[in-house]
Amino acid sequence: MKSLHPALTPVYDDVLRRNQGELEFHQAVYEVLESLSPVVTKRPEFVEASIIERICEPERQIIFRVPWTDDQNRVHINRGFRVEFNSALGPYKGGLRFHPSVYLGIVKFLGFEQIFKNALTGMPIGGGKGGSDFDPKGRSDAEIMRFCQSFMTELYRHLGEYTDVPAGDIGVGGREIGYLFGQYKRITNRYESGVLTGKGFSWGGSQARTEATGYGTVFFAREMLKAKGETFEGKRVLVSGSGNVAIYATEKVHQLGGTVVAMSDSSGYIVDEQGIDLDLMREVKEVQRGRVADYAAARGAHVKFVADGSIWDVPADVALPCATQNELDEVAAKTLIGNGVKLVAEGANMPCTPTAVAAFQGAGVLFAPGKAANAGGVATSALEMQQNASRDKWSFEHTEARLDKIMTGIHELTLTTADEYGLGADYVAGANIAGFTQVADAMLAMGVI
Ligand code: NAP
Repeated sequence: MKSLHPALTPVYDDVLRRNQGELEFHQAVYEVLESLSPVVTKRPEFVEASIIERICEPERQIIFRVPWTDDQNRVHINRGFRVEFNSALGPYKGGLRFHPSVYLGIVKFLGFEQIFKNALTGMPIGGGKGGSDFDPKGRSDAEIMRFCQSFMTELYRHLGEYTDVPAGDIGVGGREIGYLFGQYKRITNRYESGVLTGKGFSWGGSQARTEATGYGTVFFAREMLKAKGETFEGKRVLVSGSGNVAIYATEKVHQLGGTVVAMSDSSGYIVDEQGIDLDLMREVKEVQRGRVADYAAARGAHVKFVADGSIWDVPADVALPCATQNELDEVAAKTLIGNGVKLVAEGANMPCTPTAVAAFQGAGVLFAPGKAANAGGVATSALEMQQNASRDKWSFEHTEARLDKIMTGIHELTLTTADEYGLGADYVAGANIAGFTQVADAMLAMGVI
């Protein structure tokens, strides 16, 4: 890890003191601050106005009790969160995560990253994130519905199309957004489409939103390869996870001529040397809500399932971590490098540990951070808001073309910013600086608020 500029050390110390035990949040803040040394030198007005301190403190944090009953009428209590981090560029925007690991530190890390990611898209959206420590695994549809209704019964009072607009994340897909929207509509007596994104197409959703994060990550990686005169054609690709981001990243890799040979979930990984059969994977994951082991069993003897192993042991040209934070550490990075990986792009949020990122950069592997590479999801959410505001519906082709243009634009902005600050082709620094300066300029213009 790089050391911090002396002007930023007290800022980071304050973050540690105020947010004790929130390790993922500390990691996310450090990763941004270590990129900002050249900005501190070039734009001292940001330091004078304490912009960096202000950006590290959420504007509002909401924590609430979520009581619900299971199918046996037993009462369960979960904790709900919404961190409204920064609204300098627009209403708070960012997903909801339902996973047992969720606590304030996870929500804050995700909300903090979201500020800069959303700025990179060029869309008028601020940063926020939320969720619950609720575990949807093994729960019936009726239980999921009751949980979502209880969650929204508190959250609704903090939302609004000009205030805060949540979407999905881990454990929150189209089904959950439907239940959440239904309860919002019922409580408020308002059909306010723009209050949630990731809705079904027939009731205010956008074409290509489901595909957007995965597709966008691959569009970004395509641009990185293009800058080196290469393409996805013939490349062996690893995609971790087998949820929303992973499935649509795989689909786009295949459309661009690459082959995804391995995917995973929290129980292990599969290797399918013939290339992932995406129809089967979607049937197993999206319809049956099964495990990757079920894919292996259904696909045939040539598929290997490795319980509890690391997908990063599989040799490949391209690695797309699309599961969860800190899933790819330094050991895994060195294995990938040893096996000749050329490019790593983060479909998930912060999946690579800081030492893994340093290893990739040190070895000359092209590396794209999530806040740039996975911004396609939130960008398409902003396109959904645009369609809702104008009561319009765009075609899949039009929406995908807009997404492609946005991802190509983020790639260009990231590289030109890195270049402007004399940092070569450092995608991490380029993304952090480009996102930060847009938010900081807006905050400066709005005075001390
Ligand atoms: P998802 O549909 O719930 O899928 C998550 C996948 O990751 C599942 O296959 C899950 O396996 C796996 N996973 C979760 N925790 C794991 C762990 N500890 N170890 C190994 N595998 C694990 O979620 P998603 O929407 O695809 O989100 C994936 C990542 O992308 C997250 O970091 C999210 O923040 C980020 N992201 C999502 C979006 C979006 O639009 N959805 C946008 C930007 C960024 P199990 O089923 O076994 O848990």
